[in-house]
This record gives sequence, C-alpha cells and structure tokens, in this order.
Amino acid sequence: MSEDDTPRMLPCPFCGGTNPGVVYVPGAPVRQVVCGDCGASGGSVSGQFATRRQAVEMWNARAEVERA
Ligand SMILES: [Zn+2]
Repeated sequence: MSEDDTPRMLPCPFCGGTNPGVVYVPGAPVRQVVCGDCGASGGSVSGQFATRRQAVEMWNARAEVERA
C-alpha cells in the first residue's frame, strides 16, 4: 500500500479549514491529523503499523460525525 492511496481529507468540522495535515509525533509511532487553521485533531493512530491512511480515515470519520 503506498502513501498515494491516502483518501482525500474532509474539511475541518469545526472551522471549515481545508488544510488539515498529518502529523507525526516525535519519538512515538503515532500519526494524527491536525487542522492547520484551528488546531482541532482527529483520533490518533498509534502502533507499529500506524499509517497516514489510517489517520486520515479517522479524521474523516470524525468530520462526518461532527457534521451529523
Ligand atoms: Zn479547524
């Protein structure tokens, strides 16, 4: 699975920002999507197999919940 498979990120459910980014927590195998505008974060994915794609999927899931 390549990083190119990463699904499109939905806009931030809080501020509508369209430039959320995946962050990598230094020193830990954790990836998390954080809004570049308001700092809201999606769920973090941790573990040896944490991928950018998983973090994005969690962010999108949260965005859909917050909009419901
Ligand atoms: Zn935001």
